[in-house]
Parts: sequence; structure tokens; C-alpha cells
Amino acid sequence: MTEESNRPFNNFITEIIDADLAAGRYDRVHTRFPPEPNGYLHIGHAMSVNLNYGIAQQYGGKFNLRFDDTNPVKEEQEYIDAIIRDVRWLGADWEDRLCYASDYFEQLYEWAVQLIRQGDAYVDDLSPDEIREYRGSFTEPGRNSPYRDRSVEENLDLFARMRAGEYPDGSRVLRAKIDMSSPNMNLRDPILYRILHEEHPRTGDAWCIYPMYDWAHGQSDSIEGITHSLCTLEFEDHRPLYNWFIEKLGIYHPRQVEFAPLIPTYTIVSKRRLIRLVREGYVDGWDDPRMPTISGMRRRGYPPEAIRNFVLLSGVSRSQGRVEFEMLEHAIRDYLNEHAPRVMAVLDPLKIVIENYPEDQVEYFDVPVYPQDEARTETRALPFSREIYIERDDFMEDPPRKFFRLAPGREVRLLGAYYVTCTGVIKDEDTGEIRELRCTYDPASQGGATPDGRKVKGTLHWVSARHAHEAEVRLYDRLFKVENPYEFPEGGDFTDNVNADSLTIIHGAKVEPGLAEAAPGERFQFMRQGYFNVDPVLSTPDHLVFNRIVSLRDTWAKISNQ
Ligand code: ATP
Ligand code: MG
Repeated sequence: MTEESNRPFNNFITEIIDADLAAGRYDRVHTRFPPEPNGYLHIGHAMSVNLNYGIAQQYGGKFNLRFDDTNPVKEEQEYIDAIIRDVRWLGADWEDRLCYASDYFEQLYEWAVQLIRQGDAYVDDLSPDEIREYRGSFTEPGRNSPYRDRSVEENLDLFARMRAGEYPDGSRVLRAKIDMSSPNMNLRDPILYRILHEEHPRTGDAWCIYPMYDWAHGQSDSIEGITHSLCTLEFEDHRPLYNWFIEKLGIYHPRQVEFAPLIPTYTIVSKRRLIRLVREGYVDGWDDPRMPTISGMRRRGYPPEAIRNFVLLSGVSRSQGRVEFEMLEHAIRDYLNEHAPRVMAVLDPLKIVIENYPEDQVEYFDVPVYPQDEARTETRALPFSREIYIERDDFMEDPPRKFFRLAPGREVRLLGAYYVTCTGVIKDEDTGEIRELRCTYDPASQGGATPDGRKVKGTLHWVSARHAHEAEVRLYDRLFKVENPYEFPEGGDFTDNVNADSLTIIHGAKVEPGLAEAAPGERFQFMRQGYFNVDPVLSTPDHLVFNRIVSLRDTWAKISNQ
């Protein structure tokens, strides 16, 4: 057991767990993450994974990954594979406990038979429309089905024949016999089984009746010996039903605890809607770096540790509320600021010719890779030559007083190399656009030394023109224009809130030579520009592609004070 003070999770859920352990209700902690494999996981699921796994770890307990795969119409192997990959990437370890509700189909069937025998379930011949109509509404009680009082023998016979495939889809269902006038709609004789002549990704054609999610979920937790079933608030109204099943069956009883879902601002987290963004072409697949999916965030370069920190920062509560998207960006910046190697890349290059630097000379400067961390001394050798690229907006021909970068007659430091002074501006004769600058350098400032105590205010990043590699750089903005994309005017749709300018592609950026060898997905700080990674899908040695993970909050002030 951990001391309260050094527990990563400390919230109303851990209080409940502490109380359960103290009262002897459980003598261990066992959690699970139970996705339906009907889409890709998103940032909200990342919270659930981190919470469930984190709590299990914190109590020295166990964690299961379980697929609640009860609906073969919407589920696919592709989703199962993606979810396994994502949960592993998030850092959760289920050891040998990769579970599937479909592994319990036979047991669930037997339990359904038990309910029938007890007079707690019946086969209903009403059509789906009639069932809906009989169900009543929030303001009106439901009515009993005319088939509700069938004999146990008839129910057993019909249920066996449902399983044997004698009936077409939708012709019959098995229902629990609870209370058609309950104020909780979930207790109005919920459906336990429906007929679906569908192949299942795992059980193939072994079954033509499938358990409803609600019939499978709680019993799967029970079978696995889960102690604390943590789930989102919408399951609160299902809890009495799950309890009813467990009590009628007389089986092991997990405790369910509900918490508010994590929904960042400017973000949609619902598979049903995310799938539309993919299918309707608003994004380029589930792993588009703008998507709030785990696969999108992985491709974008969000570190799993930073996602975990974000989950910890957002906390766990019982009441709904959106978490600022900026908090996620903050967690990512924070992590990368500490861990990302620094490199130089020029996104919008402007050429400088250093007129007093020998034509064929190349010098190598050892520049620190982790200047943010005094304990790390690694350097890389950066080539310097007569022609250099700097960022176009680091030069102004007619600068305001507070502009400390390059301007005619001004001197700046090229990071880790030399002081240079601008001596000339070459323009396109027709358009007036600046094409090139002429500079001189001070040999006494080699390696960024300060000759005769002379200080310069500006330090610029740069790359050697001859040695730089060309790259494509992708800048991302928020996928939605508004804080709450779930809200839209009447007659509209959430897709009306999509930000049409969420992707900017820059061609012809110039990056320092070592970046050509960077591994897919590797993350860097492009000094003064932000954090970037090598796009693991699009980048090749012949065509480098970088994604901007997140911008630097303060691009200029920091470095100019160095
Ligand atoms: P969606 O609304 O995206 O379709 P879901 O709840 O239908 O999600 P499941 O596969 O059933 O998707 O979710 C698996 C687990 O993740 C559930 O326990 C669910 O409570 C939890 N979960 C889903 N969305 C969130 C969220 N936004 N924040 C925290 N946990 C979530
Ligand atoms: Mg669900």
C-alpha cells in the first residue's frame, strides 16, 4: 500500500478503494479498461486507461484489457489491433490478461438460461418498434408485453431455438423480467439477447444470438474478479441493472464507480462523430495528426508520458466539465522542454552570403544538444560556410526600435557560430522582394565568443546552405474553431465547427544535416520555432516531413536573453 502523499492518483475513487480495503470488502485491487472495438481510442480513453492502470499499480494490483465485443455489426479486427497498440503505447501493462467478453459467450448463455429457470427472463415476440412503444417514456410508465408470462418451459425452448438459428434477425429477443413501470428506463425489462446472423471477428459464425452490452459488461467484470469497475457517468443509471443481474445470478460482486468523462475544449471525443470526420474527409484518416485519437496524437508526436501528466493534472471528478485544451499543450511542452534535443531548422529561409568568409571553407562547431540540461553534455558538429540560411522574419529592412534581430548595419549572433553584421540587401528588381542579404563576420567571435566584451541583443538560428536538407513542415491548428464543438445552431451539424485552416504545409524548409538520419517519430525542438517530430507515415530519406507537435509559448524572449 502506498502512502497517500506519494500516490499519483488521489481522488474520490481512491477514497472509495481505501474504504473498501479498510472494511475488508476486498483484499486486493483489480481494474480493467473495457473498450468496445468499434472505432479508434481517443484522449478520453487515454484518461480511462491511465486511471485504471495507474490505480492498479498504485495499490500493487492488477489491470485487465478487455474488449466488450458484443456487437459484431460495428466491430472489426482493425479496431481490436489498433486498440491493443494504443493501450500498450500509453504504457499500460495487462500482462497475460488480454480478455474478451466473447470468451464468455457460453457462460453468459448459461446464465441467461438460469434467469429463465428462475422466472427472471422471457422470450419476447414483439417487433423492435413494438418494444420501443411498450417501453413508455420518462414521463409515462411502460406496459407489459403480452409474451411476458410465458412458461419457463416455453421460454427455454424458444431461447434454445433462437440460438439454433431457427428465427430471422429481429423476430425475437430475450428480456429480463424486472419492472415495466420503473422510473429507471434501464430496468424496464431490458433486452439480454438479440438475433443477429452476423460473423463475429472472434467467434466467427458460432453464434447467431448476441448478448447486449449491458448483459455482458457487468458479468464480464464479475468473471474477471474486477474489484472496482471504473466507468464514465452515463453508466450511473445502468448500475442498478448490473446489480440486479449479479444478485439474481448470485455471483461475485464488483463495485462500480462512475467519474466524469474527460473532454478537452476544442475537441470532440465520441467515436460516432470521429468516424464521420474520417469518412467525410475532414481529416486524413484516424491517425491524422489533428485527430484527438491516440493514433493521431502518437503520429503528431505527443509523448505518452505527457498525456499521462495531462490526465493527472486534469484530475478526476464526479461532475462534468471541460478541461482546457491549453492544459494538454502545456503538459506536452513541459515534457518536451525537458527531454527534446535542440536542433536548428529554418522554416522560411532567407539566404545570407558572408562576403569576408573564404569561399570553400567549412568549419564545424560543437553545439550542445541539450542546452536546457546542464547535466547533459552531448554536442553535435554543425557545419558553417559562406552561405547561410536564416529565418526570413529575423530580418527587417526598416526595423522598429525594439527589433533586436538582423537589420542593415546591425550585428547579431548566429547561434554557436559567429557574429555577423548586415552590409547589404539584394532585392528582386521587379517585385522588390528581398532575395538575399550580404553580411560580414567577425573571426574573433568564433563559436559565439564575445570579442572585446561587445554584446549583441539578438541570437538567430541558422543552417549552412550547402549542408542543409530540404524538408516539408506541417503546422497544425485546432481542428475545431469553437471551444465547444458539440454546440451548433439549429439545423446545423458539429462538422460546421471544423476549422478549415487547421493544416498549413510548408515546402522548402531547411534543416540541419543530422536530421536526415532521424528516426520516424523522433522528436526535437526546432530552436525558437517549437517542437517537431519526423512524421512516421509520410517522411522518407528523400523527402523529409516534420509535424509541429506544439509551438513554443514564448519563441523569442527566452533566447534573446541568453
Ligand atoms: P465513445 O463515446 O467515444 O464512443 P465509449 O464510451 O462508447 O466512447 P468504450 O469503448 O465503451 O467507448 O469506452 C471504453 C471505456 O472508456 C469505458 O469505460 C468508458 O467509460 C471510457 N471512456 C469513454 N470516453 C471517455 C472519456 N471521454 N473520458 C474518460 N473515459 C472515457
Ligand atoms: Mg461505451
